[in-house]
Formats: sequence, structure tokens, C-alpha cells
Amino acid sequence: MSSSITTQLQRLRASYDSGLTRPLAWRLQQLKQLESMFETHERELLQALNADLGKSNAEGWLTELGYLRSDIRHTAKHLKKWMRPTRVSQPLLAWPGRSHLYPEPLGVVLIIGAWNYPLQLLLSPLVAALAAGNCAIVKPSELAPRTADLIERLLPDYLAPEAVHVVTGGADVATELLAHKFDHIMYTGGGRVGRIVMKAAAEFLTPVTLELGGKSPAVVLADADIKVTARRLAWGKWLNAGQTCIAPDYVLVDETVHDDLITELKRATEEFFSNEPELADDYGRIVNKAHFERLRAYLSDGQVAFGGDSDAQERYLQPTVLTNVSPSSNVMQEEIFGPILPVVKIKNLAEAIEFIRERDKPLALYGFSRSQRQLTHLTEHTHAGNQCNNDTLMFMLNPKLPFGGVGASGMGRYHGKFGFDTFSHLKSVMTRPFKIDPSFRYPPYTSFKQKL
Ligand code: NAD
Repeated sequence: MSSSITTQLQRLRASYDSGLTRPLAWRLQQLKQLESMFETHERELLQALNADLGKSNAEGWLTELGYLRSDIRHTAKHLKKWMRPTRVSQPLLAWPGRSHLYPEPLGVVLIIGAWNYPLQLLLSPLVAALAAGNCAIVKPSELAPRTADLIERLLPDYLAPEAVHVVTGGADVATELLAHKFDHIMYTGGGRVGRIVMKAAAEFLTPVTLELGGKSPAVVLADADIKVTARRLAWGKWLNAGQTCIAPDYVLVDETVHDDLITELKRATEEFFSNEPELADDYGRIVNKAHFERLRAYLSDGQVAFGGDSDAQERYLQPTVLTNVSPSSNVMQEEIFGPILPVVKIKNLAEAIEFIRERDKPLALYGFSRSQRQLTHLTEHTHAGNQCNNDTLMFMLNPKLPFGGVGASGMGRYHGKFGFDTFSHLKSVMTRPFKIDPSFRYPPYTSFKQKL
């Protein structure tokens, strides 16, 4: 395996060095090819997502294929502008001359994807890497094997095989890949492996982008529209059966509206999936047995307000809301990453802020209130990778907003131009004419010159 990775890397490096990936036309063509792969194989791709995660076609389209199509179109539309060198002003001391910023590709990059959105999280970084003119090795997650196999089969038919290579496998393969030198590594997954990736990258001084996870809180204040809040929380939490890195992990709710919120969460959940979510087309499954058992153990960490049913054979876990949870319980200490939503009472916004600040900096933070002043106060007094007010997940749809974590939730960012920037080096270039070459800048620095 190792020698084949070495061979592939040499091949990609040679392609990169040949200048193949530099022209705008080549980059646009690759993006177009990727889009046509999605169009031609839409059915197979949706089937693979369904087999791996029980994703319905609608959900697979909304969160993976449709998302990637918009990503590609946005990138293709703006790429020429992003690639253009920009001129910046020249300070008087360096006059005459011109200064420019040149975005240049990094070289050969490694992209390691996670299983929960196995297409989006692998291929959206690839869109950015190709747009920026890089060659790439992509490694899908082994925990979504049907999707990984399909990517391995399809990508070489659509993208230049001398520029993009797919490597499938688990931790052993990832470990082998990380023993090689890349020009950038983008990793999406949990913090434990994130540390391994960063250590391996340090050997080669390779820069990393780490898209990690953690517990993303939602804060519901007394003046929020509770009905709408509940629908949006339920949507963001139950999507992909809660296996979304930016899903609201737990809710901190003003105690005066706690009971109303639980009632409305139940109502919204039944509206979405009826009383029998196990039969609903639009409700997913837990990725594997180990995660299913991990999640089921959380059910005893609080009082089940509604939900709580499960079927191990099916890896089905009912959308579940827990109340009376202790902050020291496992469900409040670990990232849940499944359809269990603990709801914790707070007295006011100050208490919510204190609760959040005592913990790791989250990937996403959600605030629900009719008061812009309160929402701004939440923004200004907490740290989070991304904040979305009065909704969940929707910020992902704006390619003008960077996506990424801070602290334990990750480092670096992508989406839209931010992805292009992540996979580019912004080279500064100053060019000075030969004419006009006064001697005051050169030694000897006489006392007269020092006075100038
Ligand atoms: P995972 O198990 O799919 O692992 C991610 C990748 O790491 C896989 O490709 C896997 O092969 C590789 N890997 C596993 N062990 C490794 C090792 N020892 N060395 C090198 N590579 C190794 O995903 P996961 O970690 O279960 O993902 C869930 C986590 O990812 C959650 O914490 C979630 O919040 C986070 N996540 C973050 C984002 C984001 O965009 N920030 C998106 C999705 C998931």
C-alpha cells in the first residue's frame, strides 16, 4: 500500500510541477466534470447515502448533492476574479514600484473526510482545492463504505486521474497517508484524530485545516417565538438523525418558557415524522452499532420528556428530548452526535453565557430571541466558530460566510472564497524599476543620512 501511495504522490507531484492545474480553463473543466458526475450518477449516489445512513433522497439532495452543486456553481462563477492578482498601494519609502498579491496553489494536498455527510465533507474541500489549482488525494471515511466505494469508482472517470486520486480504507490507511509529505491537509472529524493529524503534519511543517466538532449549544430566551424556535431546533437536530457536526447539541432555555418549549418540540417532531418516526421516510439511522450503543447509554442520563424508543437491529433511535440532566453527566460532557436533545433550564442570558464560556469553544452557537440587543450580547460575550440567530444550520447556505471552528472545534475555514484562500498561498510580489536609485538607503549610514 505504502509504495502505491508513494507512486501516486509522485504522479500527482509531477502533474502539479508540469503546470497542468494552473490554467483557469483546466480548473473550470474539472469543476464542470464533477457537476456532471453528480447529474449522471445522482440515483446511485443517493442510494449509497441511503444505504450508509438511511438518508432519504430529499435529505441527500438538500444536504449533499444540491449543496455541492451550488458550491461548484458559485466557485465556477467567481473563480476568475478570485485568481486575479490584486494590486495594493505602494508606500512612499518603497516608491517607485508596484505591489501585488498573487494567489498561488499550494501543490499536492490531502483531504480526509468524515462519514456523516460523506459526499459533502470530502468533495466540497476538493472543489476548493481544485479551484485553487492543486492536485489532491482524497480519503473518504470507511464508516460510510457504500459512498466511499462509489466515490472511488466514479471520480477517476470524471476528474483528471493524474491530478486527483482516491484512497479508501480506515485508520491504517490514513496513518500511511500521513507518513507522507503534503502541502496542506484538510481533516474533518473528531478532535482525537485531529490531534494525530496535526502531529503527523508537524513532521513536515505541513499546514492543516481541522474541521472538528464538539458540543454546539442553543440558547432560547424568554422572548423567543417558541413555536418557530422549536420547529427550527427539531429540524436542525433530527436531520441525519442528529449526526451533524453543527446540530444543536443541547438547549439552554429560560426557565419560564421551558415547558412550552418541550411541548412545541414534541409537536414539531410529530409534525415532521408522525408518532412513528421509525416508519418515516425522512428519518435516518445511526451509522453503526457502536455509535448506536453509545447513544442509547445517554438515555439514562436524564428524564425522557418524549422519545426514547430504539431498535438495535435497525440502528433506529427515536428523536428524544431529555430534561433534568446534570451538567456532569456523560450526555452533557461528550458530543452527542445523535438524535438526543438535552434541555437545561437557565435563569437568564448571563447564566447561559457563563455555562458556554466554562466549556470548549463550540463549532456552532444558536441564539433565539426577538431582541437584537440580547443576540448581539451573546455574540460579543462568547466564542464560537459560527453563530446563527433564530435558526439552526442555515448559515451553511451562505457561501459568503466562512465555515470553521475555533479552539477545540477546529482551525481554518472554507466555503466559497474562503475555501479558495485556504488552498492558496497569497504570495506578495513587489516590483521596482531600475531607474531612480538614490544612495541614502545604502551604507555607510552617515549621520547626515540618519537625519533624513
Ligand atoms: P470518522 O470516524 O469518519 O473519522 C474521520 C476520518 O479520520 C476518517 O476518514 C477516518 O478514516 C480517519 N481516521 C480515523 N482514525 C484515524 C487515525 N488514527 N489516524 C488518521 N486518520 C484516522 O469521523 P468521526 O471522527 O467519527 O467524525 C465525527 C466527528 O467529526 C464529530 O466530532 C463531528 O462533530 C466532527 N465533524 C466535524 C465536521 C466539520 O465540518 N467541522 C463535519 C462532520 C463531522
